[in-house]
Amino acid sequence: MPEQTPQRPDHGMLKIDMHTHLLPAEMPNWTEKFGYGDFIWLQSNSPDTAIMRKGHAFFREIKANCWDAALRVREYDAYATQVQVVCTIPVMFSYWAKGTDGLELSRFLNDHLAEIQAADPAHYVALGTIPMQDADLAVGELERIKGLGMPGIQIGSNVNQRNLGEAEFRPIFEACERLGLAVLIHPWDMMGFGDMEKYWLPWLVGMPAETSRAMCSMIFSGLLEQLPGLRVCFAHAGGSFMGTVGRIEHGWRCRPDLVAVDNKRNPREYLGHFWVDSITHDKRVLEHVLDLQGSRRVCLGTDYPFPLGDLEIGRMIEEMDLAPNTMEDLFHNAALEWLALDKARFAAG
Ligand SMILES: [Zn+2]
Repeated sequence: MPEQTPQRPDHGMLKIDMHTHLLPAEMPNWTEKFGYGDFIWLQSNSPDTAIMRKGHAFFREIKANCWDAALRVREYDAYATQVQVVCTIPVMFSYWAKGTDGLELSRFLNDHLAEIQAADPAHYVALGTIPMQDADLAVGELERIKGLGMPGIQIGSNVNQRNLGEAEFRPIFEACERLGLAVLIHPWDMMGFGDMEKYWLPWLVGMPAETSRAMCSMIFSGLLEQLPGLRVCFAHAGGSFMGTVGRIEHGWRCRPDLVAVDNKRNPREYLGHFWVDSITHDKRVLEHVLDLQGSRRVCLGTDYPFPLGDLEIGRMIEEMDLAPNTMEDLFHNAALEWLALDKARFAAG
């Protein structure tokens, strides 16, 4: 975020950014602790920067706004945005690890996220992480996440290249529905990564495809149909699903023998039943998403503090000349409904 950002107009409207990432300032060297694998861990570098390492190798440098909660509140103030929904960075998911190690890592991150929320509930809402590679351990951690007062979780778009509609994940989604925990689906471990590393294509092409992959799997497997109380939000405005929904629907019509084998319902009918964030970087694309989803199902999100995020928080939306009630939906109603949170919690924010 630029340091000399002009103050954005304050509409006096509660703004909740429901897609942001936060890490603890310090964490163990998991590779050393567990004795295998290329786990991501943080090595502090200076008060302002830290080095993310993947096993022993340099991964990337991050700045203090990745972990400093008070600094982040000040940065959000410049955009008249009161609330940050924080979750870990997808590279921390570590679904490839042993289940018990994934659980230990999840518990460490969740305890930290819960502390951030408890220390400043007017500014912070925390989403947990779970070891998706072991459904039993994951369900146990969901119960703990609920007990810690977190309203939901963030999971990846695939688990070791297994799709989210597969039967082994069903108990996890059933538990989320039963516990009333919201689910954010975030692209990661992008398909075809090794085939297209040049030009940042895993992020520019792979990520939107990953999100559509997760959504299609959850629709066509019947997961969303069978768990109607499950509140799911897909990152990056639903990825490529929103631009290809016509193709997906047409495929369902012309080859039901391939597509409609586990769920007979038209995939288009799920639009407006799940949530997406607003990260499009394009007004016309966001208008299209609003048209497909309805404004109660599109939440302000930024991917703060990372460079591919929409870091001028809410600015594009404010420039779109939307009706005040549509802006209210985008800025807080959609997120409050997805997370099942009461607006009054943030009144003092
Ligand atoms: Zn993100």
